[in-house]
Amino acid sequence: MSPAPRRPFFCGNWKLNGSLAESVALATDVRNGVATLRGVDVVVAPSFTALHAVAKRLESESAGPVGVAAQNCHWEDKGAFTGEVSASQLADVGCKYVILGHSERRQLFGELDAGVNLKARAALRAGLAPIICVGETLAERDAGETLGRVQAQLEAAVADVSEADLARCLIAYEPVWAIGTGRTATPGQAQEVHAFIRARLAARHPGLAASLRILYGGSVKPDNVRALMAEVDVDGGLVGGASLKAESFVRMVKEGS
Ligand code: PEP
Repeated sequence: MSPAPRRPFFCGNWKLNGSLAESVALATDVRNGVATLRGVDVVVAPSFTALHAVAKRLESESAGPVGVAAQNCHWEDKGAFTGEVSASQLADVGCKYVILGHSERRQLFGELDAGVNLKARAALRAGLAPIICVGETLAERDAGETLGRVQAQLEAAVADVSEADLARCLIAYEPVWAIGTGRTATPGQAQEVHAFIRARLAARHPGLAASLRILYGGSVKPDNVRALMAEVDVDGGLVGGASLKAESFVRMVKEGS
């Protein structure tokens, strides 16, 4: 049986950038830039403060909608958790996706594998599709620990997630040494880890792994996306810096899809 086709998926992670007006303007420009594209999913991930306005701006798009992702969520639905935002609150303001376990959350805010799992399960309960980030540090790569680290993060993140729920998840392989550094993994390095991730998922869910989308993240740009997307297990990109200007993000989506 031939594997299920996987629709390319690109998500712009805007991180801690953009006023409300700037975010709505950027989302509008992205929407206009990709309006004629078919066969690709495009998502933007603004700061919490801009999610509702961006989702409102994008919701009326009939031709080729651009989806909205949050950059994090809490694992509880409500309660005494000052400063946190729940997955159901994100769904309520129009999000369809949430990025979880980004290396900046892990490195700067002490996020652990177990927390990523709780958040993924909360997101799924709320109807969101989690974009689960995994990836090794440079020290781990140099020590030959890349696959072991990725396996540990992956298996912890999807523990106790049913096959039906896993089908709604996306995995993003983001080598930490390539994020925001201008240093991209070679297509071969990306493919090795993507194929490994798919194989690990196939070991647990043989019928599902071929259709799961695995994104690459780490200094993806318009001029390197095509080579990355040429790899058989690279299904899209999680893009930081190059998503902050509509022109470069749209060009990258066009090059990559
Ligand atoms: C990211 O933030 O997930 C990312 C990959 O950033 P950049 O594209 O800037 O490396």
